[in-house]
Amino acid sequence: MRVVVYGAGQLAQMMYLAGSPLGIDVQAVDVNSDTVVHPVSKTPLDIPLDEAIEGADALTVEFEHVPERLLEVAAQTNKLMPNIQSILVGADRVREKQLLQSMDVANCEHQVVTHLDQLDACVDALGNKLILKASRDGYDGYGQWRLSDESELPDLKKSLQGLDLEAVPLVVEKMVNFDRELSLIGVRNAKGDIRTYPLAENLHHQGQLHVSVAPATNVDSELQEQAHTIFTKLAEGMDYVGVLAVELFQVSNTLLVNELAPRVHNSGHWSQSGAVTSQFENHLRAVCGLPLGDTSPLGPSAMVNIIGCSSFSRELLSIDGSHLHWYGKSVREKRKMGHINVTTQSYQQLGEKLMALGQYLPLEYFPKLVAEATRLK
Ligand code: ATP
Ligand code: MG
Ligand code: MG
Repeated sequence: MRVVVYGAGQLAQMMYLAGSPLGIDVQAVDVNSDTVVHPVSKTPLDIPLDEAIEGADALTVEFEHVPERLLEVAAQTNKLMPNIQSILVGADRVREKQLLQSMDVANCEHQVVTHLDQLDACVDALGNKLILKASRDGYDGYGQWRLSDESELPDLKKSLQGLDLEAVPLVVEKMVNFDRELSLIGVRNAKGDIRTYPLAENLHHQGQLHVSVAPATNVDSELQEQAHTIFTKLAEGMDYVGVLAVELFQVSNTLLVNELAPRVHNSGHWSQSGAVTSQFENHLRAVCGLPLGDTSPLGPSAMVNIIGCSSFSRELLSIDGSHLHWYGKSVREKRKMGHINVTTQSYQQLGEKLMALGQYLPLEYFPKLVAEATRLK
């Protein structure tokens, strides 16, 4: 079987690696040049895109910002999974909020802004602690602005002046004073079977995911069930096929949806060694019409992103239960270069191993994140 993935980054690479034992070949599309490349080496394969599409059993995406012209061609083949509407919802925060509202799924209080003058009304309606998000093309906290006091409004307006808000509106959200950030990774196949992974707890630094712990601690069956119900409602409502990630804020016993990612997700990477079946394998199984795999966890696990640095010691592999995934990209500030998964027998052990890992990583913020990651044990 063969799957063509739009996007040629680390997610396509990890799909390829997961597909190989199943005899599923994965080809990647570099969407900047419309060329079909090998998902690991990124060298061009000698196949025109239309032939690759023709020869594929399924077409899928590794990120939601694939140019619409490519998605439309892909959708016409009826082989695109998830479907084009689901991908477009993930690529546009206005559509995303509309979907959440129409399905009655709890999310952050917000308003859509197409003119800077509307910001005053947002402050009146939502208060003076706001987060403004460009509705398109944002990720890792890019394309976001924060207001923490009404007195900052004139300066904020000035810094937003160059934006064409009619073309790309802002979604203005009330700052949520959440207890923590969680995510639910789930998968649905065309038959309608659904499996969800245990909730992961996600720790951010400067708007970017750095550490996920899964299963998240202090999750009772009701909270997990609440997340499963949200996933089921969304996946069924969208007639979704593949892995879907739901980013959540926990406020007391309630989950609010922050955003959706219509693809495999960074906060599900722990499943490569921490679950019976990884998110990458389950995504391929779903889009290829195969039975879904067991999503049970194998033990307390963590995923640590290696961000913006290439100089670290591979001696960290001396920590039992740790696995390195290196993406082979050139180094750039804030760029995700690779990640480490650690799977253990207990949360106490997980805390110890994360501390040990810190010795090998030149990331000055890491001790703070580890302290947070282990505070609940
Ligand atoms: P990603 O890389 O996950 O796609 P993104 O750039 O799309 O990130 P969001 O997930 O919307 O952005 O926001 C990034 C982070 O900013 C969140 O994980 C959270 O820490 C914080 N944040 C976003 N929205 C809110 C909110 N309404 N209230 C409080 N914090 C928020
Ligand atoms: Mg996002
Ligand atoms: Mg996010």
